Amino acid sequence: MRWWGWGDPAHPPVLPAHALDWLRETVGLAARPRPPVALGRVRLEAATVGRQALGALREIVGAEHVRDGHAERVLHAAGKGYPDLVRLRAGEPEGAPDAVLYPASHEQLRALLELCARHSLAVVPFGGGTSVVGGVAPLRGEHGGVLALDMSRMAGVLELDEESATVTVQAGIRGPALERQLAARGLTLGHFPQSFEYVSLGGCAATRSAGQASTGYGAIEKMVLGLRFAAPTAEIALPAVPASAAGPGLRQLLVGSEGALGAISELALRVRPAPRERIYEGVFFEGFAAGCQALRALAREHALPDVARLSDEQETRMSLALAGAGGVKGRLGRAYLQLRGYREGCLAILGFEGAGEELACRRRRALALVRGFGGLAVGRSPGEAWRAGRFTAPYMRDELLTHGVMVETLETAVQWSGLPRLHRAVGEAIAGALRAGGTPGLVMCHVSHVYETGASLYFTLIARQREGDEIGQWRAVKQAAGEAILAGGGTITHHHGVGRDHAHWMPREVGDGGVAALRALKRELDPAGIMNPGKLLQLSAG
Ligand SMILES: Cc1cc2nc3c(=O)[nH]c(=O)nc-3n(C[C@H](O)[C@H](O)[C@H](O)COP(=O)(O)OP(=O)(O)OC[C@H]3O[C@@H](n4cnc5c(N)ncnc54)[C@H](O)[C@@H]3O)c2cc1C
Repeated sequence: MRWWGWGDPAHPPVLPAHALDWLRETVGLAARPRPPVALGRVRLEAATVGRQALGALREIVGAEHVRDGHAERVLHAAGKGYPDLVRLRAGEPEGAPDAVLYPASHEQLRALLELCARHSLAVVPFGGGTSVVGGVAPLRGEHGGVLALDMSRMAGVLELDEESATVTVQAGIRGPALERQLAARGLTLGHFPQSFEYVSLGGCAATRSAGQASTGYGAIEKMVLGLRFAAPTAEIALPAVPASAAGPGLRQLLVGSEGALGAISELALRVRPAPRERIYEGVFFEGFAAGCQALRALAREHALPDVARLSDEQETRMSLALAGAGGVKGRLGRAYLQLRGYREGCLAILGFEGAGEELACRRRRALALVRGFGGLAVGRSPGEAWRAGRFTAPYMRDELLTHGVMVETLETAVQWSGLPRLHRAVGEAIAGALRAGGTPGLVMCHVSHVYETGASLYFTLIARQREGDEIGQWRAVKQAAGEAILAGGGTITHHHGVGRDHAHWMPREVGDGGVAALRALKRELDPAGIMNPGKLLQLSAG
């Protein structure tokens, strides 16, 4: 993984020249490309963990598994959110862990946490490091040092129970590694976030992540059936069961705990037969409202596809522009728009996974339903184009940053009754904040996950960076969007999690009583407050 951005350093550029021209005209580019600084020029403060504590940590995991070199510290200095990348590329991360710990077992993990609590060292669990909400920011709070707890040595498949369709894994296993092993047995987990290439399953569970096919497969919380959890003062083992009425849902309390209570060491997950056939196709609607009504009807009638995404007018326009005259989507899309008067239409991608008559039947039913809302099926090309490119956006973001373009995404979920108003309000809030900062840009949105009672909205904004004040520009937009989301009845996050960036909104999200209950649980499991300070719950209130 590139330390300053996304993915394999050898990955070829993905931004076509015509897209750059279009962006130059639409939002403007920096006068000169702004590449990241060299790794050696990244400035880090001197580490503060004492030799004695480091020695004791090394006794638990072995000397080579406590690493404090410059590159190692930089790699664990931040996640992959927009402000993280801006700071890293400038060679000025907010901080860095003093050292990185690599446990190999639950027992080592537990021993490390106990020791860190004794020495007052903050611990930041680190899975794939793909958090976009400051979830792995190396905040030390009031502690004498901060250590990253890298889970990558705990990456095995422990048990596959094919009869029950469950797999038990160590929490550091990455998405692709797990899918490869399941595919060999004709199975899939079905969890494909856009960050799939690098996420760990422990990180996904700790953030209540949702995959792109979560409309069909469910988000990660529907997949976690059991887990093993290590906290500084306790451990919790909850075996896999299909359901349980034994008190409040403890599994669900730990799913989404974002490393602030302890670390997930193992997970038992539901798996499904891998689909033998996949049909992804495009449907055009006259407008966003008609598309939303169609998705709502699909949910009500239990006729949802596995992937259901509906772009609003602005996002549809931009996808067509970026696909360009030579792009499959561009050619097809434009032809249909002109033919049928859907010039300002909205593109939906519907993805069906399964096999044979069952799949054909589901698809026929869904397409018949969306036709009732003016939906025009435009064939498989748009769907296949989306599927082929669905993991490339983060690479594109890196290239845009080099050209001085800010790209940020944020998301929420809301009831159907409040969705049109929230879509409008958040879009206006973001656009207003960009305008006020002197960098008007583009704001677009899509419905990314669909439920019977509502849906999630995923906003993307693109604007010229305010050079020298990139973080101030981002903060203004983020604050305006968050306020509009809460005022409009949305949740502050549907799947990115709370992290550091949303923690100040938690009292409004769950109420003071809710925050007090979470703090009480933290006091019990982590009385020294070493686990991921400042994430999920704000630092200031203790
Ligand atoms: C380009 C891009 C696209 C993305 N797309 C999606 C998407 O489609 N859907 C989605 O849901 N998210 C998405 N994300 C956000 C991110 O990938 C998810 O939050 C993911 O679940 C994080 O997994 P990770 O292993 O990288 O966790 P990390 O980033 O390493 O950690 C995330 C949080 O979980 C904690 N944590 C990690 N491992 C453990 C553990 N074993 N025990 C306890 N706590 C732990 C960390 O301390 C941190 O608070 C995207 C991010 C990027 C950069």
